Amino acid sequence: MKNGDGSSAKRPECRPGFDNGYSMGDSNCVQCGACVQVCPTGALVDSRDKSQGRVEMLKPVDTICTYCGVGCKVTMFVDEITNKIRYVQGAKDSPVNQGMLCVKGRFGFDFIQSQERLDMPLIRKEGQLQPASWDEALALVAEKLGGIKAQFGGNALAGFSSAKTTNEDNYAFQKFIRRELETNNVDHCARLCHASTVTGLEASLGSGAMTNDIPSIKHSDVVFIIGSDTTSAHPIIASHIKQAIRQGTARLIVADPKRIDIAEHAKLYVAHRPGTDVMLINGIMQQIIKNGWHDEQYIAERVEGFEALKAEVMRDEYAPDKIELITGVRANDVIKMAEMIGTAERTAVYYSMGITQHTTGHDNVRSIANLQLLCGNIGIEGGGINPLRGQSNVQGACDMGALPNNLPGYQKVYNPEVHSKFAKAWNKPDLPSESGLTLTEIIDAACHQEVRGLYVMGENPVLSDPNQAHVIEALERLDFLVVQDIFLTETAQYADVVLPSCSFAEKSGHFTNTERRVQRISPAINPPGEAKEDWWIIQSIANAMGSDWAYQSVQDITEEICQVTPQYAGIHWERIGRDGIQWPCKDSQHLGTRVMHQETFTRGKGEMVAIPFRYAAELPDEEYPLILTTGRLLEQFHTGQ
Ligand code: SF4
Repeated sequence: MKNGDGSSAKRPECRPGFDNGYSMGDSNCVQCGACVQVCPTGALVDSRDKSQGRVEMLKPVDTICTYCGVGCKVTMFVDEITNKIRYVQGAKDSPVNQGMLCVKGRFGFDFIQSQERLDMPLIRKEGQLQPASWDEALALVAEKLGGIKAQFGGNALAGFSSAKTTNEDNYAFQKFIRRELETNNVDHCARLCHASTVTGLEASLGSGAMTNDIPSIKHSDVVFIIGSDTTSAHPIIASHIKQAIRQGTARLIVADPKRIDIAEHAKLYVAHRPGTDVMLINGIMQQIIKNGWHDEQYIAERVEGFEALKAEVMRDEYAPDKIELITGVRANDVIKMAEMIGTAERTAVYYSMGITQHTTGHDNVRSIANLQLLCGNIGIEGGGINPLRGQSNVQGACDMGALPNNLPGYQKVYNPEVHSKFAKAWNKPDLPSESGLTLTEIIDAACHQEVRGLYVMGENPVLSDPNQAHVIEALERLDFLVVQDIFLTETAQYADVVLPSCSFAEKSGHFTNTERRVQRISPAINPPGEAKEDWWIIQSIANAMGSDWAYQSVQDITEEICQVTPQYAGIHWERIGRDGIQWPCKDSQHLGTRVMHQETFTRGKGEMVAIPFRYAAELPDEEYPLILTTGRLLEQFHTGQ
């Protein structure tokens, strides 16, 4: 090729590359695969995709990523002839991820088509789990659970529901435990992560969920992340926060004992000592009040308890130099944090298990609520309290009543009005009306043979619950254990009966993501062998026990959820479109709620409360001279299954 003056043109050199010319391994690349999705030439492809760019060979199926509570929408490209997913793209039309995905959501789909999937029921015979028919397995489960109930009463039974299955599965599960087994001993993994969010925010605001939606991030002036390794645990929310910073609309404060990746983007990063969150937040509030940066009008109109809070945080023990002593955060930085939060128009707090997984988790959550109420940051676009939920449907599992004290919609089991409402709706006058045991209490009770039969759906307590030896002892002491899962997990290996279920890519239903968005999941491929949908298995056990369940499809359960759950009243099957619907959605005309508590709090006025600092129970001593903390890796998925 020649230039106009006859000289040879220099051929432009284009090639995919990484920052500063580094190799992939040395670069900042997080292997999200966005380059593969946007590559215009097809030079970059998922190596499992054998279609060589001929998209007409593959069927696109929109569904929701199963790996975390962000709830990114994915399009699975499916080879229907071989029943295989070939590759996955982020859905551009999703307000949650706008086409983005992290490495798990884009590339982590091999497990669905693994050879190790359970494909038929198993029954323990002569000490070994052996293949069995569905009829045999269901009859045995019904006989054993029914036998324990008849001999020891319903409270000798318990169930672990699952934050990885759909709302409909969770609804059916807790209904089965309450209606057929006649106990409220039902719980799930939220007990170990965000139970303190549910109790703390319910007490302060009346509702234990993220107040704002993900698109609200771009309206924040300040984003305050505390106790959340956001880039590892909730990567797409981290991407939205980084975008807001890049666009110059938001400044970031990060407080975390570990210098996490997102701290690199912070205007201010502080490393407080583990377990000193209340001290730090009380110290920030003292400076805000001292400098008159709090929102007096908002407090007067919308909040109660300010005087009690003020009396606590203005004490000398929360002066900046004392905060420095206890938390390790420099006094000047405490003042700087207070100024940034106190003088900003809109501050959003994002937190996760660095806040909740402490003996003081409830106090930590309430302190965050105090701070946000103090500055008038709840009920506004770009503000809010935003607990980042872990598993894909942990919000939904809580909403559906997979908790020992809550029926669907956080309606209390011990409230007489609620009791009669469900007794009527479920045609079961003698529903249990006392709170059941929590997940950890169920394990203790099993060790003492107070719980004798356990039904585990999609949970793996042997690997994920604290004190593995204790969990194994509990499982071994049970008279009967039934596990329903997609793999023979560590827990399933202790079961008397194992029931094979469908993965998220093989069924319909809904997940509710961390921002309360109810989104449809859709079947992309057929399940392996004789694996069945969870709700179908639950219904079949109920009927094998002599009950009268008659759901014809998952849609029937969605509609029943609308009827009994006030927050989901308008979230009918046919209304859940492309963007999902965020609860509360009170009727069929309501569009859902992006930002909660705008006019009034769910409990009326927001409640501030004095939270005195107390040391964590887990302080190092001579016998245990270490501080250990939990954490997440970007590429890691919970217990791996
Ligand atoms: Fe999936 Fe969460 Fe990654 Fe989104 S951020 S792709 S939901 S794991």
